[in-house]
Amino acid sequence: MKTYKIAAIPGDGIGTEVINAGIEVLQAIATREGNIKFDVDHFDWGGEYYKKHGRMMPENGRDQIRNHDAILFGSAGHPEIPDHITLWGLRLAICQPFDQYANVRPTRILPGITSPLRNVTDKELNWIIVRENSEGEYAGVGGRVHQGSPLEAATDVAMFTRAGVERIMRFAFALARSRPRKLLTVVTKSNAQRHAMVMWDDIAKEIALEFPDVTWDKMLVDAMTMRMVMRPETLDTIVATNLHADILSDLAAALAGSLGIAPTGNINPERTFPSMFEPIHGSAFDITGKGIANPVGTFWSTVMMLDHLGEKGAAARLMKAIECVTADPKLHTPDLGGKARTADTTKAVIQKIHGANE
Ligand code: ATP
Repeated sequence: MKTYKIAAIPGDGIGTEVINAGIEVLQAIATREGNIKFDVDHFDWGGEYYKKHGRMMPENGRDQIRNHDAILFGSAGHPEIPDHITLWGLRLAICQPFDQYANVRPTRILPGITSPLRNVTDKELNWIIVRENSEGEYAGVGGRVHQGSPLEAATDVAMFTRAGVERIMRFAFALARSRPRKLLTVVTKSNAQRHAMVMWDDIAKEIALEFPDVTWDKMLVDAMTMRMVMRPETLDTIVATNLHADILSDLAAALAGSLGIAPTGNINPERTFPSMFEPIHGSAFDITGKGIANPVGTFWSTVMMLDHLGEKGAAARLMKAIECVTADPKLHTPDLGGKARTADTTKAVIQKIHGANE
């Protein structure tokens, strides 16, 4: 019996609802597989924790989760706390020190889901976006002075390092190579940003030499939004900076039918630290507590987690169960136009796991 230690950080808003659902599904997979076990530790960090303790997680928070095999994260955000505090105080406070520099975001049109793009199915839209997750525009370099006075000034400096760009390019080229089409698009903005983005392009060209079997092209981020909408079938693996990929992946999630479906893995490829898996949506306070949050993004993130742990069979089984459930409109939550509740979708996935989807 192989036992994995999982740290669950549900966070705020619908985070709690979808992570509870995700853990139910994870335990169902363990039961079905028979030879794996998940010991899940829960951490109540997030906005509510901040209101009590003045910080999003305890000072030794990272030490508490450093030795877990993986982290399952919900969402952090609170209507009464500024977003930059919730983001930097928890999510980025884990991602950056744990060097989870590759943020991986698959996008596909799952069975039964209609894309807002006309006639687009899984055949035309099956992408994986790699977001640089450790530096760039979110490096945290900058400052604000003379607050409130007419002389007030502020900077956010996008910081790119050769080591940081090389490793994300190498990760993206290797991922592209592992997929059938072996196709990579490098997103850039080197026409307007003539220092760091030109270095980004140069390094892409250098790393490409290590992957002669991968076909690659370069795309300005503005033109990329058009290509994603107008010619989705020409894309497969995509690599972009922290900010560019943040924006492009929300567009991708919308094109795939709902923000509630899209998953993410924050990967530390060297496995020095645990990697963290989360749905890409936020706290969604407009639907919190109503029991209607779509748990599919969390389920799919759990598939990515199983994959990362090397449990390929369990990952494939869970993905198949998810696809069986999305194929049935009666099991769609309201964000997909259905009437199902979080619990209905969760129960159906668990039934499929135990059912005849061998
Ligand atoms: P945050 O500030 O934490 O990112 P937000 O509310 O601004 O939160 P999201 O949580 O990403 O942003 O939600 C955007 C919209 O998408 C909301 O209307 C929300 O109800 C909807 N939404 C997001 N996730 C889900 C989900 N899992 N199921 C159903 N609807 C969702």
